[in-house]
Amino acid sequence: MDKKIILPGEYVGPGEVYEEGSKAYSKGDDIYSAVTGELDEENATVHSRTEKPALKQGDVVYGSIIMVMESFAIVEIFPLKKGNVCPTAPEEGKIPVRAMSKGFTPSVRDAVRVGDIIRAKVVRIEGEKAELTLAEPELGVIKAFCSQCRLPLEKTPKGLTCANGHREKREIANDYRDYGRLDF
Ligand SMILES: [Zn+2]
Repeated sequence: MDKKIILPGEYVGPGEVYEEGSKAYSKGDDIYSAVTGELDEENATVHSRTEKPALKQGDVVYGSIIMVMESFAIVEIFPLKKGNVCPTAPEEGKIPVRAMSKGFTPSVRDAVRVGDIIRAKVVRIEGEKAELTLAEPELGVIKAFCSQCRLPLEKTPKGLTCANGHREKREIANDYRDYGRLDF
């Protein structure tokens, strides 16, 4: 069933709104929308369309590396449906080189490469971007692909190695390739 889009000030239904800061307000015996959203006629409520749970400091996020620069990497944050992860806004994260590693990382490329799947923590929100860190044992790359042949890199006693024998470095999380199922 198609949901009816409702605009601020439009009639929602009869009744009263008790909740402070609600997406609807009452005037007389009627309810009106305070936001642009989807009308839920049955319950005389409005579901905001643009509402996204905001990321906050300390949230754990998953994402893939989309850009690697000299002093930072950019992450596309995955909108996860479940778990301790907060989804969507902001959708991009930035990891500065100083937050790449539990130890000293001389170069961003020793920690992450484009296409890697990472688990990171939000340090702060700066406008549209979240600043992220990998500098904790449970944080880092959880799945990486060989930059030469794109096969997944497996954890071996000699480090991360692909099936073709290429060896690469990453800043891995302590459960690299063993993180269970992610519900995207
Ligand atoms: Zn390879």
